[in-house]
Amino acid sequence: MKIVKSIKEMQEISIALKRKGKIIGFVPTMGYLHEGHLSLIRLAKKKSDIVVVSIFVNPMQFGPKEDFKRYPRDLKRDTKLARKAGCDVLFIPSQKQIYPDRFSAHVNVEKLSDTLEGKFRSGHFKGVTTVVAKLFNIVQPDLAFFGQKDAQQVVIIQKMAQDLNYNLKIIVAPTVREPSGLALSSRNIYLAEDERKTAKVLFESLQKAQSVIEQGETNSFKIIHEMEKMILSKPKTIIDYIAITDSKTLEPLEKLSGEVLISMAVFVGSTRLIDNLKLKVK
Ligand code: AMP
Repeated sequence: MKIVKSIKEMQEISIALKRKGKIIGFVPTMGYLHEGHLSLIRLAKKKSDIVVVSIFVNPMQFGPKEDFKRYPRDLKRDTKLARKAGCDVLFIPSQKQIYPDRFSAHVNVEKLSDTLEGKFRSGHFKGVTTVVAKLFNIVQPDLAFFGQKDAQQVVIIQKMAQDLNYNLKIIVAPTVREPSGLALSSRNIYLAEDERKTAKVLFESLQKAQSVIEQGETNSFKIIHEMEKMILSKPKTIIDYIAITDSKTLEPLEKLSGEVLISMAVFVGSTRLIDNLKLKVK
């Protein structure tokens, strides 16, 4: 596995690979790799000739009161895990390279970035789309792999790729969970032992919603109310939002139909967790 720190070198590697007709699969991450990331790398390995993984904790997607400084980092461990999962090129640019002095161009996907997570994390998705656009231009992938864990991010990046004519295919992989149902996240490290036990209620509430929907319930308000009750019955929980929306437009639905996305952000103690479930309603 090659470790690349320079943007220019990464671009040259990609250009040479493309000239040889190689399929480049790309997995962008912020590091502190877990099975969720590794599942994306393994999938990329199956579908591409060369797998590029980036690790960049992107300051632009963190709000001023968020955890950028505290965000877990362990490059040594990540390097081993990425190699084992099948990464061929590990791209680790510095902050200075990605955002040199007087950097001023941004990519923003309007509307979709302002709802759900966007309401609570102003500017977050603008930071995500700006860095992902840059990474796409640097790595020039044929395939780019993202996790369903960040459902809104997937919708926004698909829209960005479409609207800006990126010549690549976005591949979405399912959310990897702990046996308890808790979705894996680099931020789970912040959870104290009792909080980790509580945190499984997010997925339990999604499963509850699924079973109520399968029994024929189509009233969003009732489903969300049930979920809120479940979550708030646990200690140290604060709900930012629970929403049922169309899975593509992310518009809220009063009455469920078609493909719906149930998504949420919940604080457990001081850790903010997100989770979601995509369902087809008959
Ligand atoms: P991050 O390092 O949090 O920016 O995540 C990098 C990529 O891994 C994103 O596409 C995430 O959606 C994906 N990812 C994070 N957690 C999971 C998970 N539990 N299951 C599947 N994919 C995930």
